[in-house]
Amino acid sequence: MQEKISIVELYGTNVFNDTQMREHLPKKIYKELQQTIKEGTELNASVAEVVANAMKDWAMERGATHFTHWFQPMTGITAEKHDSFLTIEDNGRAITEFSGKELIKGESDASSFPSGGLRATFEARGYTAWDCTSPAFLREDSAGVTLCIPTAFCSYTGEALDKKTPLLRSVEAINKQALRILRLFGNTTSKKINIYAGAEQEYFLIDKDLYKQRKDLIFTGRTLFGAAPPKGQELDDHYFGSIKERIAKFMHELNIELWKMGVSAKTQHNEVAPAQHELALIYDTCNIATDHNQIVMEALKRIASHHGLACLLHEKPFAGVNGSGKHNNWSIGTDDGQNLLDPGKTPHENAQFLLFLVAIIKAVDSHAGLLRHSASNPGNDHRLGAGEAPPAIVSIFLGDQLTDIFEQIEHGEATSSIQGGRMKVGVNTLPVLKKDATDRNRTSPFAFTGNKFEFRMVPSSGSISGPNFILNTIVADVLQEFADVLEKAEDFTTAVHDLIHKTYVEHKRVIFNGNGYSQEWVKEAEKRGLPNLPTMVDAIPALVYDSTIKTFERHKVLNRLELASRAEIHYEAYIKQINIEAKTMIDIASKQILPAVIKYKNILVDTICNIKKLEQDSSVEESILSDITKNVKLFYENLQLLEKEIQAAHCLECSTQEQAVFYRDHVAKAMEKLRKPADALEMLVDEGSWPFPTYGELLFNI
Ligand code: ADP
Ligand code: MG
Repeated sequence: MQEKISIVELYGTNVFNDTQMREHLPKKIYKELQQTIKEGTELNASVAEVVANAMKDWAMERGATHFTHWFQPMTGITAEKHDSFLTIEDNGRAITEFSGKELIKGESDASSFPSGGLRATFEARGYTAWDCTSPAFLREDSAGVTLCIPTAFCSYTGEALDKKTPLLRSVEAINKQALRILRLFGNTTSKKINIYAGAEQEYFLIDKDLYKQRKDLIFTGRTLFGAAPPKGQELDDHYFGSIKERIAKFMHELNIELWKMGVSAKTQHNEVAPAQHELALIYDTCNIATDHNQIVMEALKRIASHHGLACLLHEKPFAGVNGSGKHNNWSIGTDDGQNLLDPGKTPHENAQFLLFLVAIIKAVDSHAGLLRHSASNPGNDHRLGAGEAPPAIVSIFLGDQLTDIFEQIEHGEATSSIQGGRMKVGVNTLPVLKKDATDRNRTSPFAFTGNKFEFRMVPSSGSISGPNFILNTIVADVLQEFADVLEKAEDFTTAVHDLIHKTYVEHKRVIFNGNGYSQEWVKEAEKRGLPNLPTMVDAIPALVYDSTIKTFERHKVLNRLELASRAEIHYEAYIKQINIEAKTMIDIASKQILPAVIKYKNILVDTICNIKKLEQDSSVEESILSDITKNVKLFYENLQLLEKEIQAAHCLECSTQEQAVFYRDHVAKAMEKLRKPADALEMLVDEGSWPFPTYGELLFNI
């Protein structure tokens, strides 16, 4: 019998949430803190002092010994520095302490984190600052119980060095502009705009002992060699299949851990590929959703190890098998519960909805390259455009119903639902819009799914901060432009109609409801002038396009320097990743594959000699030997080529951008070349002599 658990009782027990604050804080302090959380007012030091003390007591009651500022530097993973609550008094007595200052601000040596040249070496200090809009939580692991305080991370001079700062800034930007629009539509009650995000996370689970035998998985998170197994995903027997006992146990523990930390694990199922699974959370404000997705990724890895499993978050751990992505569901709502992407029932609501919709269409079309960048990392280069994930071209799926409405608006023709005259949004009755959630186009990178957009290009191992802060900022920019026009309009209704009409006509090229995986779409998109940026390196320049800098500076989300530094960081990340992969390949090729093949060849040679001595037929053995020799020769040549390319890359004297291009066009290409004969050799050599577990074992051995 399993122990009985109550989700409701368990949920949020490790979070310093509203209930805990109410319980542990004096009323006045609670109110002031709530004001800071909800309205962004500054937190005064005396309030912080009381909050810190209450937080410490609450955490220590639950066994916490340490606290950490938990932050998200540009490495994409979270960072933490643990301090214990311990203080020794003058008389040598041990007491516990956690001050308001320690809660609000931390100092950290920033020189070990990527800064893209932002932080001069003489000023290596970085600061972490408490983000009270994301609740503090307790994490239980082998180190004990730790109080984790979500923080932003910036340089001495205030430049963002992390993924949280721009996200918080972007939320402010879109809040300001969307409220202007709402006021024009007569909304006087909403005080704040919330941006919601819900992430669906894909991952692989494989046996930990097998994982440990593969240097490529250990060093790079993906397999660099491996012939296709006899069975892949062709039977479609894994997707939504029943979950195996060992995996089910893992998911059970994972859910409990997450629920305790207030992370709303909701849906879990097997995915398309063997050994692949998915976990979706219930959506939350994009800041909390981003933090929670980081917690999920960390928990997946940690808890997998309790079950003798290794969790792979890489976008393409296995060639020829579906990779992993992340869907970022995104919507705009008000603090009083209205979803602005919900079509609504009345023409008035329709007009507001359609205006927000065209704003998003315009934003996505105008900054398609930047959005493409937000979904790029070295791993996703193996997926986007490879027929299993959306193409590298950003387009929007609207569905037939909405597209039809826009077409009607464009052509200004009467329809059966309108009695004569020109169709005007908000004046004549628009057809009631039905939620169109069933009409899903799985091949679209950015799909409207009823009352939200689903951005499907996002890489499985990446933070969802980038996609969200970029979306928030580019949409804020269009809303600002709209508000500027509409606030001056004499006839608001006509102005809204004209704006929707004009924007749709100008940006409809980005709407595509067809099959995004097809080659025809690539051609069609080119005709429409949509950017096609196949690789990460192609997409990074979007960060420093003039249009990006202007937009991001206008809304104070990132300045020119911060954007340029991020471009540097991304080039460097790409270079480092490919360099590690290439070196790992060389290591495996020289120290594992070559010796194994040579040994096996030797056995074959001996066998052939023996057969010949007996004057028997050795043609089969000779044919295998000749195949092996052919491939091993090619393998060795390609190994030398890869070594040469890495050498050349190291000797380059050029910009990081040019170096990244070289890695993509030379080093990564040489890696592909080296893999081919290796995978052929795997099929020629005795299974027992192959030096590491095969795809078949990795994918089906649970
Ligand atoms: P599917 O796999 O069909 O895309 P799921 O139900 O697995 O759908 O995931 C949908 C995700 O969208 C969930 O994380 C859910 O919480 C989130 N979501 C639902 N409504 C909204 C919304 N209004 N804004 C943002 N995210 C949302
Ligand atoms: Mg989805």
